[in-house]
Amino acid sequence: MNNLIINSKRGVPGVYFKALEFAAHKHRAQKRKGPKGIPYINHPIEVASLIASTLENPSPELLVSAILHDTLEDTSATEEDIEKRFGHAVLSIVLEVTDDMKLHSKERKELQVEHAASLSPEARAIKIADKTCNIRDMLQTKYFWTKPVKIQYILWAIRVVEQIGSSHPPLKKVFMETIHQAEEILDVKFGFPSA
Ligand code: ZN
Repeated sequence: MNNLIINSKRGVPGVYFKALEFAAHKHRAQKRKGPKGIPYINHPIEVASLIASTLENPSPELLVSAILHDTLEDTSATEEDIEKRFGHAVLSIVLEVTDDMKLHSKERKELQVEHAASLSPEARAIKIADKTCNIRDMLQTKYFWTKPVKIQYILWAIRVVEQIGSSHPPLKKVFMETIHQAEEILDVKFGFPSA
């Protein structure tokens, strides 16, 4: 499935900057939830950076997909845009981590739990990193969420990551460390195994 479109003159780094430029443009008017007005693009950069610094030799397809992971769900980007610029492998990973926004949020959340076990290894990595970054953000910036809402979000994220099974132990370790930080900050016990 290695059909990433790489400009031969610029090599692999060129495609990362192309993905960053595309995602930054598509998310340009969006802010992260929360009172601090943090630009949305910070989030996909954090997700890709977490994968790059945690997994050994992540593929360019995985890193590009991580940068683009919210573009289909949250911006005007189309499947065609992504396939034309980055190839079919990237499009198929991004599609795997894209929720059907026509569905109600509760239904979307349940489907994420149901589908987690059947995701490709690349999509699994993005899911774990995405949930980790979202929980970190929530603990640091979404201070207007009530404690029960934060706990509910974390319990759901744990269900998704548990369904993913034993893939990507180093990323799962970071996820679990984040859960333990949340336990301390929120003064609760989630009982997620600390293996
Ligand atoms: Zn995300």
